[in-house]
Amino acid sequence: MLYFALWTKHSGCLLKGGGVFDLRDLYQQVIVDHNKNPRNYGILAEANHHADGHNPLCGDQLHIDILTDDEGKIIDARFEGEGCAISVASASLMTEAMKGKSVAEFETLFDAFQHMVTADLDAMANEEVLGKLTVLAGVKEFPSRIKCAILCWHTSRTALADKKEVAVTE
Ligand SMILES: [Zn+2]
Repeated sequence: MLYFALWTKHSGCLLKGGGVFDLRDLYQQVIVDHNKNPRNYGILAEANHHADGHNPLCGDQLHIDILTDDEGKIIDARFEGEGCAISVASASLMTEAMKGKSVAEFETLFDAFQHMVTADLDAMANEEVLGKLTVLAGVKEFPSRIKCAILCWHTSRTALADKKEVAVTE
């Protein structure tokens, strides 16, 4: 419920434009839904790539399992862990988005996502590449939450590179 507090903190400026507020409301509903009912939550026994991730700033801990085929296409991805609403919703949305993608396409998605949450506030997200992931665009207004949103991406990159290390956002 931390996320509600975050949004309402800025409700004064959000309320200035009615249209913007409605869109934010919709985005918030999607994020809350993915936090309450995370997709792809659990262990993937047949996974061939694994990694743990840690965001010391917030305390988020993630484990990611990924299954790729011989051509390097991501067949399945699951996650487990303890974290704030943003870290869980982000991992849920990411695992949905990465299935069926090649590792190269995953990297393109990662770059677009990273740009979306770290670019200046006026920069537009690449909706064509990001699709549903754009619901997390608002995170960039809350710098302390950016690492929560990006933790799962770093963890997946570490897993796909078969690095035997914990992905850390610091
Ligand atoms: Zn967090």
